[in-house]
Amino acid sequence: MFQQMYPSINHHFAYELNKDFNFSAAHYIPSEDAGKCMRTHGHTYFVNLTIVGDSLDQNGFLVNFSELKQLVHGQFDHQLLNELPAFRDVSPSTEMVARTIYEIVQDHLKQRDNHPKCAQVFVRETPTSYVKYRPEEFRNG
Ligand SMILES: [Zn+2]
Repeated sequence: MFQQMYPSINHHFAYELNKDFNFSAAHYIPSEDAGKCMRTHGHTYFVNLTIVGDSLDQNGFLVNFSELKQLVHGQFDHQLLNELPAFRDVSPSTEMVARTIYEIVQDHLKQRDNHPKCAQVFVRETPTSYVKYRPEEFRNG
């Protein structure tokens, strides 16, 4: 289903894969500055991952789509994000959720022999707000 066009990235890789998925989770922002977001509340997060690379594995994959979803959904779905090890020392803001997803995905990709890279993580937290995180290599697009 066509839901949304995501901001595109300039890169020189032959393949670009995009994977959409969502997860439901609760969080709170542990600071007086956050106003009502200090109280525990929930979101359905919509995530788009952009993976790029020049070579495919023996199955013809840059990376398996379902593997990507499982990496993040498996850890974050129906959790209180503040309780996860990834957010022990940082606030689970939309920005940090995007960055943390990037780190989880990139750590996984670097173990693959065909060396795909995560170029962008898009996280929509509400119908009116979203964050993109791009690693340094992909920031000039
Ligand atoms: Zn929130």
